[in-house]
Order: sequence, then C-alpha cells, then structure tokens
Amino acid sequence: MSDTSNTDILDISQSPKKFQSLRGFTDHLPEDHEYFTLIKKAVRHRARQAGLRRISTPLLEETGVFTRGLGESTDVVSKEMFTMTSRSGKSMSLKPEGTAGVVRAYIEHGMHTLPQPVQFYYIEPHFRYDRPQKGRFRQFHQYGFEVIGERDASVDAQVIHISWKILKDLGIAERFDLQINTLGTPSARADYILALKNYFYGKERHLCSDCQNRLESNPLRILDCKEEDCQILSSLAPKMQEYLDAESKDFYEKLKEYLQELDVPFYENTRLVRGLDYYSDTVFEYWDRTQGAQNAIGGGGRYDGLVEKLGGQHTPAFGCAFGVERVMMHLKEAGITPPPKDRIHVFIAQLGEEAKKKAMRLVSDLRENGIHTMGAMGKSSMKAQLKMADKFGVDWTVILGEVEVRNHTAIIRDMAHGRQEIVKMETVIPEIIARVGKENVDIYQLGE
Ligand code: AMP
Repeated sequence: MSDTSNTDILDISQSPKKFQSLRGFTDHLPEDHEYFTLIKKAVRHRARQAGLRRISTPLLEETGVFTRGLGESTDVVSKEMFTMTSRSGKSMSLKPEGTAGVVRAYIEHGMHTLPQPVQFYYIEPHFRYDRPQKGRFRQFHQYGFEVIGERDASVDAQVIHISWKILKDLGIAERFDLQINTLGTPSARADYILALKNYFYGKERHLCSDCQNRLESNPLRILDCKEEDCQILSSLAPKMQEYLDAESKDFYEKLKEYLQELDVPFYENTRLVRGLDYYSDTVFEYWDRTQGAQNAIGGGGRYDGLVEKLGGQHTPAFGCAFGVERVMMHLKEAGITPPPKDRIHVFIAQLGEEAKKKAMRLVSDLRENGIHTMGAMGKSSMKAQLKMADKFGVDWTVILGEVEVRNHTAIIRDMAHGRQEIVKMETVIPEIIARVGKENVDIYQLGE
C-alpha cells in the first residue's frame, strides 16, 4: 500500500499537481449525506427501540485483533487488510470489519460484569484492499449490531428482525432476499469440515486456484465460490445438515420458528457460509434479488467462540453488518429521496453599511427561530444578490436597503412570482415562519 511515486514533488515549470482521492476511497458530498443521514436515523431509531447502545472503536487496531479474530486464512485478513508498522515496530491494521474491535473492547473494559447480554450498534468506516468496482470500495461504511453474552435463537431472530425492519423503514426491503443457514456448533462444524476435505481430496484439479488453497485453509469457502466448476462440485458435496448435532438442529429450528413468528420472510440456503472464521450456528445474508450473492447488502451470524479466542471468557454472541454505500445505492436506484432537510428557506439581501448590520442580526434571529437562512454579506449589487438567491433555490428573499432601515421595515420578495410586500421589521420573523410553515422550521433541542 505504500506509494513510492514522487509525482507530488513540485515542478516549478508547471502548475502544481492536482490531487485526486485514492482509488476506492470516495468522497461523500453533501448530497450523499442526505442519504447517509437518513440511513443513520433509521438505524439509530430501531437500535434504540431495542436497547442497543452506540459504540465506536478505533480505526486502527493491533493486527492480531483481526488475524486471531477473523482467521489468518480468510480473504479479508490474508489479502485485504491495510497493514502498517508503527514507529516502535508494532503491526497495526485499519479495521476491515467491526466485530473483532467491539469484542476486543468488550474484553478490555470488563463488560462481562455488566448485565448480559451487552448490546451495541455502530456506524463506522471500514477498510479493505479489494479491487474497487460498483458497490465495492476500499473505504466504506458499515452499520452493525452486536449482542454479546447470550446464546438463544431468539437473540438471533430479534437482531435479524431489527435489520429487516430498517430495510423496510428505508423502503428497500423488497429488493432483497434473506438467506439463512446454520454452520452448527463448533464440534459439528469441525466434523463437517473434515467430511468436506475428504470429499474434495482427489478432485483438486477441478477446483479454481483459490479453492485449491482453501481446501486446506478454509474448505467451507469453496461452497460459496462463484466459479462454475467449483459450484458444480459443491452442489454434490456433503451437506452441513447431515452433520448437525441435536443441539445445532434444535437451535436452527427455533431460529426459523421465531423468524416466522416475527413475520420475517427468509430462504434456507444450505451453501451459505460467510467469509470469516468466527461464525458458528446461525449465518445469514441479504442478497440483492437481481444480482444474488454478488452484491449482498449485509449479513452476519453467531460467533460464540470469538470472545474466548480474543482472550476473554467463553461468551456467546451474535452480530451483523450492513454496507452503508450499498444501501445508499439501492435507495437511489429505488428512487427514494430523503426529506430535503438541508434546503435553504430564506435569503437576506442588503445594501449599505447600516442595512448590513441589521441583516446580520436578522440572519442570526431567523436561524435561532429554525429558519434555514443565507445572507449575501459581500458588496454585490442588489441585482447580483437576487440572482444568487435564485441560484440557492429559496422561495423568499428579505431585502433591506437604506430606506427600509430608516423606516424600520423590510421587503419580503416571493421569488417564484416576483411579488414584494413591505412589512414592519419586528414582524419579519413571524411573517417568514408563516410562509415557510411551522412544520418545516428546524429547531434543534438537545435531548430530543
Ligand atoms: P461482510 O461482513 O464482508 O459480508 O460485509 C457486510 C456488508 O458490508 C456487505 O454485505 C456489504 O454491504 C458491505 N461491504 C463489505 N465490503 C465492502 C466493500 N469493499 N465496499 C462496500 N461495501 C462493502
């Protein structure tokens, strides 16, 4: 990931180089943030209803948190981490996913002493050195949920239910199919992995080169390889269901019953395995109806062994994560537009030093009253200021000139019709509120 080019050295014969964002690292411009805020609100709302509290862990962690947590042989760890060495020689990595850091924090802060389960949600940037393409970035955001400290299928069902509710609230649930599967308890999973290895041994030359490596390191991943030959072989491979012990079976049956009880529609997909090592029992993913697994919007599962793997006591847990940029993409494709919260209501135009002072006060008072207000405080002509007001798309402009200052009045201009009305200075604010509509004023109160 180091860039050894020296193209940013200033060549004085040319104008300075213009920089671009790095490949796979994209800007979120104000118009994107309208969507981002909508998603954040939906997540926060549903998380709070269920008693989940927000957590943020650092972007950088000691690399071991991920190599031990996610598994050395997983794609995310072996190929996709941004890893660097600190000045003191410590290996550090940008977080490629959220769960391992949250579990590290749970252990570090002794949260096993809190009433269990401890429930978190997060909305955070993550980093993966993957080939950028549609819906795949090197920096992307995920919202996710982690419930640590309880093993019960009702936990899994409830978290899946919350994640589904959020997609419904956003109006895009119909674009996805929820796929569920069970990987069984760790011992059932170990038996199954052995059976898979035995099945694929001798068939290596029919597998793609990635899967040839996976056969030793992570044979479950062969099952969700996208290569046709691997898929054909996988379809005939032993099924996890044949290896489930009574406890795994019972857990999975309960999960399905609870999802049905909560009216969450799902498909059973016996080949769904997920990419990371830490899962056992429940795994799930939301697949794009038109593109399948290619562009899953989110997923997760049970990770009963992870807390122990990272040095804590044995603690069962369940979690999942969703890609914010992918959700944004679906909102846009579905034609869903966030409410125009950033819209400017009123523009203040002024001429003359006295009018400028009055305008400064008026801008501040209007904002205080929840009116989104812009003022042109430069020295432009009235015509230029009105043009500017037009460009900002405001419905009303308040005009203050020398005459108005002398008479303690202001002009309110209806921009769409070009009609103007003279009002008393002290009535400008109620007049504007009446025009904007009380329901549209933006009063911010801490604690809301
Ligand atoms: P994962 O845990 O890898 O399944 O990731 C969960 C979700 O995060 C995926 O379903 C995507 O929506 C999103 N995601 C994962 N990797 C990327 C990426 N490189 N770019 C954008 N979104 C991603």
